[in-house]
Amino acid sequence: MSAYDFNPESLMMTYGYKPELSEGAIKCPIFQTSTFVFKTAEEGKAFFELAYGLREKSPKEELGLIYSRINNPNLEILENRLCLWDKADDCAVFESGMSAISTVLLEFLKPGDLLVYSNPLYGGTDHFIQHFLDKIGVHTIGVMPNQSIEEVHELIEKSGKADRLAMIYLETPANPTNHIIDIEGFANMASSYSTDDKKVLVAVDNTYMGPLWQHPLQCGADLVLYSATKYIGGHSDLIAGAVLGNKDLMIRVKTLRTFLGNMVSPHTAWLMLRSLETLKVRMDQQTENAQIVADYLMTHAKVKKVYYLGVLEEGTKGYETYKKQCSAPGAMVSFDIKGGEKEAFKFLNNLKLVKLAVSLGSTESLAEHPKTMTHAGVEEKQREQMDITDQLVRLSIGVEHSKDLLWDIEQALEKV
Ligand SMILES: *Cc1c(COP(=O)(O)O)cnc(C)c1O
Repeated sequence: MSAYDFNPESLMMTYGYKPELSEGAIKCPIFQTSTFVFKTAEEGKAFFELAYGLREKSPKEELGLIYSRINNPNLEILENRLCLWDKADDCAVFESGMSAISTVLLEFLKPGDLLVYSNPLYGGTDHFIQHFLDKIGVHTIGVMPNQSIEEVHELIEKSGKADRLAMIYLETPANPTNHIIDIEGFANMASSYSTDDKKVLVAVDNTYMGPLWQHPLQCGADLVLYSATKYIGGHSDLIAGAVLGNKDLMIRVKTLRTFLGNMVSPHTAWLMLRSLETLKVRMDQQTENAQIVADYLMTHAKVKKVYYLGVLEEGTKGYETYKKQCSAPGAMVSFDIKGGEKEAFKFLNNLKLVKLAVSLGSTESLAEHPKTMTHAGVEEKQREQMDITDQLVRLSIGVEHSKDLLWDIEQALEKV
């Protein structure tokens, strides 16, 4: 496509799929198969030479289908389509967001290395870093939301391990308070610690914003990670993950995936191909609804504070970074209810349409209490520093009619 580039949403139904290879079927079938038949022994040999990196690919050659742990049409088509949103060279899909994250951390960190990461991280990621990486001797520095890049520089210098800095791992906007981190700023810092033979990598978990409105690779990050369970899957009916980046890094990610065997199943990949067809319309509607809900909460007498990118005040640092880095505010809205846990629970227990559940980014709206649920494992002192208090309620806004959402939130607040 040289003369005209279609937008990603226009390509989600067809890109990467050749009907003539599947009896003309308009839709990609589920390739529910473990292995693939080689035409000749010579072909099998050639495929394995590429799969194991025994020789360079010749210009027109493509890695043929071998075995579904290595490759499968449903996975490959899904990966090609996901590349369009983030403008990535390549993508690898995983059986969960956690398997995508742990595979990246395992591939690019080794004992003695230093990892710098932003707080608060997703609970599972935090656990993997604190418990598993610690056990294998990876040093870590956790950055608090209010710390500037200059302060982080100082922490790295003071650690005495600056020469071992291997990766900066970020989650932005942060869950659950939408605190926004300047990806470009951290990418510049990573460059300042890189040398000719060692590039300090920046990896960004982009789950909370989703693949439409924030493109970390375009801001200087090297890897972008997703829990595809959230917006990409979008219907609360599957668990999956994805990693995207340049060709060289993705060869390493895919190789480790082959040997850990944590690729997604063909059926789950197929479900995600369906999901991608509506990703744009779903997320457009979710964001529109979320803005309406946030605006409503801002005016409510029982609400103390609203944490939403669409209500950030102009002129603040957060607003500037948001404007530089994101093109829409997303569908995650948190707020402080006046009172404490009792009032928050009263609100949650009285919702009728919005369901009381963790997870996010799906078609149905969800509500939860971060302090006692998603962030129950975070140290009390750290939780306070991150505004995760008894009063905080998190909402993931879905595609319902906004009037119905407001009705539900209003009647639940009335009961408080
Ligand atoms: C859900 C989530 C994960 C973990 O993904 P799973 O698919 O549940 O393994 C990682 N990061 C963030 C930000 C998440 O919300």
